[in-house]
Amino acid sequence: MYGTVIHAPRDIRFEELERPRIVEPTDAVIAISATCVCGSDLWNYRGINEIRGPLPMGHEYVGIVEEVGPEVTSVSPGDFVIGSFFASDNTCEICRAGYQSGCVHSEPVQGAQAEYLRVPLADGTLVATSEVPPDDLVPDLLAASDVLGTGWFAAVAADVGPGKTVAVVGDGAVGLLGVLAAQQLGAERIIAMSRHEPRQRLAREFGATDIVPERGDEGVAHITEMTDGMGAHSVIEAVGTQESMMQAISSARFGGHVGFVGVSHDQTIPGERLFRSGVHLHGGPAPVRRFLPELIGLILERKINPGKVFDLELPLSEVAEGYAAMDERRAVKSLLRP
Ligand SMILES: [Zn+2]
Repeated sequence: MYGTVIHAPRDIRFEELERPRIVEPTDAVIAISATCVCGSDLWNYRGINEIRGPLPMGHEYVGIVEEVGPEVTSVSPGDFVIGSFFASDNTCEICRAGYQSGCVHSEPVQGAQAEYLRVPLADGTLVATSEVPPDDLVPDLLAASDVLGTGWFAAVAADVGPGKTVAVVGDGAVGLLGVLAAQQLGAERIIAMSRHEPRQRLAREFGATDIVPERGDEGVAHITEMTDGMGAHSVIEAVGTQESMMQAISSARFGGHVGFVGVSHDQTIPGERLFRSGVHLHGGPAPVRRFLPELIGLILERKINPGKVFDLELPLSEVAEGYAAMDERRAVKSLLRP
């Protein structure tokens, strides 16, 4: 089979790989129906994460189960499945508390930008739909695999709810779907912080009521002014840099909540700033599995359309262009089909 491997920064190759097999009795192997490039893949692509040798890429996926190990009971060959980027048993104490990304048996799912994928802990990781969904819903279901689940977790972590004012830092796919989540969770006012017109438009489609184009201190000043000098109740941080994290903390009111899901890179939060901000901070790798059943239901009922974040669709063999387009911000998110 063919799959995507990064060899060095900006060196993405679609090359022949060994087809994945069942290794553990709890594994499944799935034939990928669709996969995509993640904002976090760009950390490798840009050389910000060190690449210590050829690395299979991709962790967002939907597909058809090909084969299952002898201990797998909840999915069978032929099922259409959605999973998250961390395999989890979904039975341990951490999972039962809703934090499957921290499962005591968690392991990353890697290599999804390929024709086939091995998914460990299939019973706890994969969710099957009752029938193979119509093709036009595949992008929406693929979004649930990471970016929607992550944006949703950020909104929940930021304590979004009715009557709340929510600020969203970051206009990538996760930030945009954080807007959608905030809208679904009943937020009264949703302020998307974005300087890019096409992304502002999508944010509005997803439910943003206001756009703030400024960043950093100017962005914070604008949010403060819009909220009677108090700041937002809830802030979603979906970037992961020092600047974005400080912008998020400073945009929240005293006693407010910040949900942070941007993969942290070189952040140092000054203790005194944090202390004086009086905010609740919660985030990390999103337990997407917690939200999958609910999100899949909303998609199959056509109540949400998170697949709109995909503004480029390519054959999987052209994956390198999918990376380049996102790197150059020509695309929000690239969808790939084998
Ligand atoms: Zn667990």
